[in-house]
Amino acid sequence: MQSIQDLSWEEYSALPISRRAECLSRTDGMPLHTIFAQQFDRASLDRLCDSATKIRAIAKSRAGMQFLQGLLFHKRAMIYFTQPSSRTFLSFLSACQILGLRTGEVRDASVSSEFKGESREDSIRTFSSYFDLIVMRTREKGLAERMAWALSQSKRPVPIINAGSGKDQHPTQALLDVYTLQRSFERRGGLRNRTVVYVGDLARGRTVRSLSHLLTHYEGIRHVFVSPSALRIGDDVLADLKDAGAQFEVSDDLAAWLPEADAVYMTRIQDEWDESAGESAKIDTSRFKIGPEQMRMMRPDAILMHPLPRRDEIATEVDSDPRAMYWRQVRNGMWIRTALIASTFDCLSRIDHWFRDNL
Ligand code: ASP
Repeated sequence: MQSIQDLSWEEYSALPISRRAECLSRTDGMPLHTIFAQQFDRASLDRLCDSATKIRAIAKSRAGMQFLQGLLFHKRAMIYFTQPSSRTFLSFLSACQILGLRTGEVRDASVSSEFKGESREDSIRTFSSYFDLIVMRTREKGLAERMAWALSQSKRPVPIINAGSGKDQHPTQALLDVYTLQRSFERRGGLRNRTVVYVGDLARGRTVRSLSHLLTHYEGIRHVFVSPSALRIGDDVLADLKDAGAQFEVSDDLAAWLPEADAVYMTRIQDEWDESAGESAKIDTSRFKIGPEQMRMMRPDAILMHPLPRRDEIATEVDSDPRAMYWRQVRNGMWIRTALIASTFDCLSRIDHWFRDNL
């Protein structure tokens, strides 16, 4: 098998995604660079979810926190977030802090030399000299992947974690969503044979694109994509599910699917991608919202998720319903991102040992 270092960008980028996934991962199947959801299989998902649960238990005690903070005390991470974000930014910052990593941040490319005409690639490559990990969120589709390839050619192949790239992928959100689903159903037969109903702006939302792929690794998941026709899920996502042999439906009737759902995954309208002013506002989204009436239509054991930030697609009255999982998703995100960073630096077996010996 050819390694990424031996491939030009043209050769690498022409490969099918399954081959690119191999190039970005280590021989043990865990990602070196985490760029897209297609890098994960069931074993790596189980490994990360299990590690996240161990880390959260270890972090409860002072001795446990001291152990975790020693794991990557000698490493530094750059959080390069040039697209607006506070929650994912803080989630990664907290994950780094739990593992003792020192961090530096870039939030605004206009205050760096990119403003003087330097290419984004050159800037990131320069910054990578100071750090051992780059966590990046950008508006630009594919930049994290291009940087992962570029840094792999260099003498210091610093790993990259994609924290959201354009309309395309958000692999760490998908990890936390899977972790939340897995925990929600763990005492009720597990994450299998479930109907997951995704709702909202499925054309431009990146979270559903990544999550639906990860869920192909779980047996008997039926995917239902519910949106106004103008915001319909992309054919590429449906083709991906078809290749994986998953069952799916596309609908514009939320009320019809609510009683069938085990999980309802709401998303906001992504109007920052509008091509003309007010384009999204013209779409009638009134039938794609959840309030107390819709909660009554859902099963008592179903769950309601949202990657946040929300607008009005979930009414605040719903927040106190025990089926609302979105605040838990946020907390789960911090733990699974901690597990992913620990895995990137090959620390998961040290975590297993500490857990076995002390808890
Ligand atoms: N926070 C998620 C994202 O970065 C969802 C959203 O912004 O609507 O894609």
